[in-house]
Amino acid sequence: MAKKIIIAGGGASGMCAAIYAARNGANVTIIEKNNVLGKKLSMTGNGRCNLTNLDMREDCFNAAARTRMKDWLAAFGATEVIRFFGSLGVVVRSEDGYIYPASGQATTVVTALCDEIRRLGVTVVYEQQVKRIEVKDDGAKADGDGSGAETGARYGGRYVVVTDKDRFDGDAIIMATGSLSGPKTTMSTGDGYYICKQLGMSIKDTYPALVGFKCDREDGLPAAGVRSMANVSFYLGTEELAREYGEVQITPEGISGIPVMQASREVIKLVSEKKPVYAEVDFFPDYDDKAFTDLKQDMMRFLDTRTLEEFLQGFGNSNINELVLSRMKLGKGMKMKNISPSMAECILDSYRKLRFRIVDCNGYQASQVTTGGVSLGDIGDRFAYVKDEGIYCIGELVDVDGRCGGYNLQWAFMSGSIAGTAASM
Ligand SMILES: Cc1cc2nc3c(=O)[nH]c(=O)nc-3n(C[C@H](O)[C@H](O)[C@H](O)COP(=O)(O)OP(=O)(O)OC[C@H]3O[C@@H](n4cnc5c(N)ncnc54)[C@H](O)[C@@H]3O)c2cc1C
Repeated sequence: MAKKIIIAGGGASGMCAAIYAARNGANVTIIEKNNVLGKKLSMTGNGRCNLTNLDMREDCFNAAARTRMKDWLAAFGATEVIRFFGSLGVVVRSEDGYIYPASGQATTVVTALCDEIRRLGVTVVYEQQVKRIEVKDDGAKADGDGSGAETGARYGGRYVVVTDKDRFDGDAIIMATGSLSGPKTTMSTGDGYYICKQLGMSIKDTYPALVGFKCDREDGLPAAGVRSMANVSFYLGTEELAREYGEVQITPEGISGIPVMQASREVIKLVSEKKPVYAEVDFFPDYDDKAFTDLKQDMMRFLDTRTLEEFLQGFGNSNINELVLSRMKLGKGMKMKNISPSMAECILDSYRKLRFRIVDCNGYQASQVTTGGVSLGDIGDRFAYVKDEGIYCIGELVDVDGRCGGYNLQWAFMSGSIAGTAASM
């Protein structure tokens, strides 16, 4: 008789697990609390869905996951993600190694997954919220010695998935309920954390990540939004915590953009603890010290009748120019001939180290992923709970998060494919 698998959550990882399990002959049911599958997936990559990345390395994931990532990536890396979508008829395209559907539409990806799920006869139950899992039959224990080694045998007997409306029996359960991150409409409320906790799993503290920050307005922020290619470094006191390059966005509220989001994973815990973290922006990342010194020397030609505003207008972004002058308490109408060369140099130097004190992050709803979750110590190599190998945990629910650039969907598809296959055996 086909093995009966219940999957809690029909997002990226749950849909992938369903396909792998059903292709292996299992009888699969997905329980999804939204009224559609893949709601968050359809919003990814600004509506384009960055599926994976050809530059796939362990160190693109959180430190806790790195040692195990090597084996997982060997089993299901970027090539396997591309092959999987090829099997669904989705043509992909690389943009500097970032893999997107050739259609440029995330809906292509969601529809292809949904179509395959339908073709494979997977049952989908919509608008039911999984509340808890009951173990009907104690059955045999997991690996016994707690080593996490999985044997492929069926343990723990049968399970009942209890929702707000119904109960579902299964021989294996795959928890794929995602995280706390994403807009409200995705209904990302982190249900899986308390369900897994009830089952005895330990849950690592969670924080929003791949997120922007609110900055201290008293220090001054630009009057209007600014986008600029820059280096951004985050510091706690004099200790550099993270450094990234890319398009930084600075608004009247705070700082964001891809490099800030990338760095957010390294600093979020300290920010949440209200530690004095600040970001330092270098608006001339492509100038080394010598080139910048030469540039400053060249600018000294203009210590003449022009105003400070005129002096800076060809040098920096107008909103940043205003911000620099207001922070230095200098009037933009001041004549350059009245400003000493060392003062002019000091003004120009501030474009290499403009500081923003971080007061908070923009919260879970503005974040792309959640750090923390089900401890990897509770999860075996094929994503089964080490103390009850009929229960699997995959996707963002687990304490794994990656950089921006397709790494989080890579994790969702990788864990989904491995767990879906293992659960169906
Ligand atoms: C705006 C945005 C853009 C992103 N862009 C990218 C990108 O381009 N590339 C990338 O790699 N990553 C991206 N990410 C991250 C990526 O979307 C997630 O890491 C990924 O979707 C996680 O997959 P998952 O299956 O674990 O969770 P989800 O995709 O969130 O799926 C979880 C599912 O479980 C359901 N669920 C939750 N609780 C219950 C319950 N109690 N009962 C029943 N169902 C439940 C939810 O409704 C949801 O459908 C982005 C995230 C956001 C928010």
